[in-house]
Amino acid sequence: MSTTSKLPFEVGKQDSFIDKLGEWIGDVFYDLLPDAGYELRDEQIFMAYQVERAFKEKKVIFAEAGVGTGKTFVYLLYCLCYARYTGKPAIIACADESLIEQLVKKNGDIEKLSNALNLAIDVRLAKSTTNYLCLKKLDIQRTEDETSDQVLAVYDNLPSFVNDYGTLQTFTPYGDRTEYKELTDEEWDTISYDYFQDCSTCDQRHRCGQTLSREHYRKATDLIVCSQEFYMEHIWTVDSRKREGQLPLLPNPSCVVFDEGHLLEFASQKSLTYRLQQETLNTFLSFLMQSGTRESFQELLEDTLETYDQFFYELDNNSVEVEGSKRYQLNMNNQLLSLAKRLKAQISKIGDELVFESEMYTIDEYQLNIVDEHLDDVERCLNLFINESSAIQWIEYNKNELTLVIMPKAVNELLQEKVFKQKMPILFSSATLSQNSSFEYIANSLGIKDFLSFSVNSPFDYEEQMKIEINRIDQNETDQKNRIIIEALKNNNGSSLVLFNSSKEMKQFKSLIEQENLQFPLYFEGEEEISSIVQKFQENQTASLCAVHLWEGLDIQGESLSQVIIHSLPFPPNDPVFQSKRQNTANPYTEIDEPYMLLRLRQGIGRLIRSHEDRGKIILFLENDLQKETYDKVLKSLPIEPTIKS
Ligand code: SF4
Repeated sequence: MSTTSKLPFEVGKQDSFIDKLGEWIGDVFYDLLPDAGYELRDEQIFMAYQVERAFKEKKVIFAEAGVGTGKTFVYLLYCLCYARYTGKPAIIACADESLIEQLVKKNGDIEKLSNALNLAIDVRLAKSTTNYLCLKKLDIQRTEDETSDQVLAVYDNLPSFVNDYGTLQTFTPYGDRTEYKELTDEEWDTISYDYFQDCSTCDQRHRCGQTLSREHYRKATDLIVCSQEFYMEHIWTVDSRKREGQLPLLPNPSCVVFDEGHLLEFASQKSLTYRLQQETLNTFLSFLMQSGTRESFQELLEDTLETYDQFFYELDNNSVEVEGSKRYQLNMNNQLLSLAKRLKAQISKIGDELVFESEMYTIDEYQLNIVDEHLDDVERCLNLFINESSAIQWIEYNKNELTLVIMPKAVNELLQEKVFKQKMPILFSSATLSQNSSFEYIANSLGIKDFLSFSVNSPFDYEEQMKIEINRIDQNETDQKNRIIIEALKNNNGSSLVLFNSSKEMKQFKSLIEQENLQFPLYFEGEEEISSIVQKFQENQTASLCAVHLWEGLDIQGESLSQVIIHSLPFPPNDPVFQSKRQNTANPYTEIDEPYMLLRLRQGIGRLIRSHEDRGKIILFLENDLQKETYDKVLKSLPIEPTIKS
């Protein structure tokens, strides 16, 4: 195979690639990395030899490795060599976009490995669509009175080729969320791609940053780093994109890594989620009405629009706010169901009529295909809605516009068919994959029938490196709790991460601490682009960071992070997604809420000690009325014996 010349080791004609790879990996961990200043870790070497089996047998492997094992280096080495050997890039699917940045940031694991082994690595990012600027939305935003100067500056700083239609231009990727660090998340939402943008008909798509980024990462030779949600979106859309004559979102990979792989089920559900807004169908049906179609067809379109309006009216009437969540509960009733059934029948009939229209050439074929594809989506969405037991549904409001969201409950069969049936090395990496020492739960939830697995503990000496303090407080003593946190921040002179379980908790804390005169910077998630905040936090030794979404993956070594404060136990919200999970179990608290909380708690605690040199303290708050069994389980899940304050 011609690509072997690019491998960092020789493979002769008679040699086995896997044997040679194993020898080289041994050299790397026993000699090359220690020579470059990295410590030799038995746990890492153990992991490396376990992972080799997955590449040899082209199988799924659950690699459960404690904090500090150095698992990223292990999978990067295998992926890189395997990609070069097969001539197809490896895909590394991280839990979310902030973890992507962690991996590829300056002095992140990829750069470190590249420097230590003197290897040039071709790594490209494939971010989810919502991480890119949408020129269409930016155009609208420019005309709005309340648009901030920061958003207007985005337009002023667009690359010149965006608005210059001259010839001989060089188009380069742009428009990634990380390029607009100063924008708050709220501002970014007004100009970034969302599910309701129709890129296939957009006249700007050849100059759009999202399209250009896609062209860029498709040419990757070594590694493509994306989010799990984006990888799954790729999987679900491969066939339809091919049908439409488009390239799949991602190229065919040689192997796949799911970093923080315990989150894949939810990412898969999210990427299969349908969203329906009143405006969506209105636009397409109105387009058909203006297309000079037959009278009987026009009547059908008018009737459908009427049903659609009634359906949305009823959705609005039956949505109920859920505290602490953006998701509104939908109270299903017969009226809604019968409207959905009527609507589905009407849309199906429109589909049939369109076949006739296409034969009459009354509508442009390209436009017709787009409408047809959208109508199929709406029909699939209504099918799930009608068949309640197979989906979770809820309502969201964005600027008062109602969106019906429908997420399938079980994705295991689809995953089995589309992903895990393939003969390909697939690695799940996380510190928390098993339950009671078994991988069966995660394997079943993902439709994985045949797999390899192993667990390896963290090499850190937690007794020596960390302290844990538990504060017992009454449930309603939020102010008292926030006061203790402020004191703890001051006593530690910053250098802390405060983890909240909801944005509401974080806002309450923010309004209190804003009145304090702190001697160190305090950053809040959402104030600007997340990787930029993390970078500031890391670079300023006394800074502190308050976050809702950094329970996983954040990897800050050294003095910048010597205290992790857990504001409250990370129980799941009472939103429709978890309500639905609870409904399917005999004992929702012990089967859903408690395991979720314990896993997330372990992840949160894992943010503190990231190297043998790290020292620090965990501060945890437990309410006095917490069930005794849960209290015991929390204590059991801690890596060391805590001190308890009441
Ligand atoms: S291609 Fe899509 S994301 Fe890009 S400008 Fe057009 S609608 Fe927006």
